[in-house]
Amino acid sequence: MRVLIVGAGSAGSVLAERLSAEEGVQVTVLEVGPGPDDPRVAAQIQDALRLPIGAASSVVHRYRAALTDDPVRHAHIMRGAVVGGSGAVNGGYFCRALPTDVDAWEIPGWAWDDVLPHFRAIETDLDFDTPVHGTDGPITVRRVPEFDGCTAVFVQAARDAGFGWVEDLNGATVDRPVPSGVGAVPLNIDGGTRVGPGGAYLAPAAGRPNLNVLTGTRVLRLEFSGTRVSGVVCVGPDGPVTLSADRVVLCAGAIETARLLQLSGVGPQRVLRAAGVETHLDLPVGVDTIDHPEWVLPVSWPPTHGVPPLEAVLTTDDGIEIRPYTVGFEAMMTGGRHDPTDQPHLGVTLMRPQSRGRVSITSADPDAAPLIEYRYDSAPGDVDRLRAGTQLASELAGSTVQSDSSWATSQHLCGTAKMGEVVDERCRVFGVDNLWVVDGSILPDIPSRGPHATIVMAGHRAAEFVSATR
Ligand SMILES: Cc1cc2nc3c(=O)[nH]c(=O)nc-3n(C[C@H](O)[C@H](O)[C@H](O)COP(=O)(O)OP(=O)(O)OC[C@H]3O[C@@H](n4cnc5c(N)ncnc54)[C@H](O)[C@@H]3O)c2cc1C
Repeated sequence: MRVLIVGAGSAGSVLAERLSAEEGVQVTVLEVGPGPDDPRVAAQIQDALRLPIGAASSVVHRYRAALTDDPVRHAHIMRGAVVGGSGAVNGGYFCRALPTDVDAWEIPGWAWDDVLPHFRAIETDLDFDTPVHGTDGPITVRRVPEFDGCTAVFVQAARDAGFGWVEDLNGATVDRPVPSGVGAVPLNIDGGTRVGPGGAYLAPAAGRPNLNVLTGTRVLRLEFSGTRVSGVVCVGPDGPVTLSADRVVLCAGAIETARLLQLSGVGPQRVLRAAGVETHLDLPVGVDTIDHPEWVLPVSWPPTHGVPPLEAVLTTDDGIEIRPYTVGFEAMMTGGRHDPTDQPHLGVTLMRPQSRGRVSITSADPDAAPLIEYRYDSAPGDVDRLRAGTQLASELAGSTVQSDSSWATSQHLCGTAKMGEVVDERCRVFGVDNLWVVDGSILPDIPSRGPHATIVMAGHRAAEFVSATR
């Protein structure tokens, strides 16, 4: 069986390794970005103490997005465009979805008991050896044992305000939920090195004769013949080429998977018609998308350099996560230590938002930027809860608060091709025999944690669906 995977990101890297471990499966991965064989690329994606997402980064793709509607507030967002995807440039927070998050999806085969073995399989947790943790998975997970600098100040402030200490943010079971409170973030960072799916899953498998990773290869759209994908239209280092395979899996991330589907005529008819694309399948792609809105509150406590960007979080009963980032944004991206205006900040994030957004193509031209609208202010209750969360953060930070908070996003976009709406519970696109989607697009709702661990789990979970004989 020949399988084409589009995108060597967080989910795609795991899926490629899992599928190529099977006899009789020939896997080709098409990745628009470079691989880690370029030392400049390797240096950017391995250093977990920085996010290589600044203007000079050669490993991200940048997009302009509208965070709110009234008034319209724009922001630049990024996605990893490199082997390893966004998991190769992210903050290293590797916190699982909660059992209540997953069970609320109500997708057959995706109950907590179904996914827990996959959460365990992907990790080796160096801090906890209990039945819910993994002991021999490729992704190393550990927590900072002792806090320093601003994290220590924040944790103490939260404890003084009466919040309890959460021993293990990844320790939830159906019967024993994790309480709210402050705790150390499970990090996929080992000795300052990012242990992402690209390095931990794909790289060790790269030598297999049945696995071929084509970097610098951008997929532009899919061609259909009846109910099958007959061609994957790409531009590679040697120019345009159309590839084919028995099975095609889109792992291009929530933005690009939605864009590829829409450019190929799979999406809401209204959007496709306006863009001048003929509709092949009218499906709700890029509709009711979800991300974690974040308000950023600058504080004057001294930055702590040489540590991960986020070491602890406070979660509250009303779904707020407060994040004491250890350095200012500029230092987080460049490692620069000498700009006194580059202050640390608290992120106040709504983890179970009601607001829903959209990702839409505006043209049949694959080079035209997609329209990304978060519509974070479309649910008044969300804004009220963010305001209350920011009030709490201000109380914890006291006189160190520097200025008013501002709108931002956690860059966790999910749900552009949801299970149950665009793909079935085995991740196959409704109405197409040989097309699957396996990445953050398929999550029916956003986890009330950062999504990375859950998306990596999904890549592991879905491998058996793609290779199944039926
Ligand atoms: C800056 C940043 C920080 C983050 N921090 C955290 C964090 O600390 N914790 C957390 O839980 N989550 C975090 N996230 C979110 C998390 O990293 C992502 O949700 C997750 O990695 C997405 O995985 P994915 O497999 O869906 O897509 P991706 O990992 O983005 O993979 C998509 C891949 O497809 C490739 N691709 C795209 N289009 C094409 C095309 N047309 N042709 C060929 N290849 C293509 C891309 O280059 C990429 O390699 C962060 C995200 C960002 C951007």
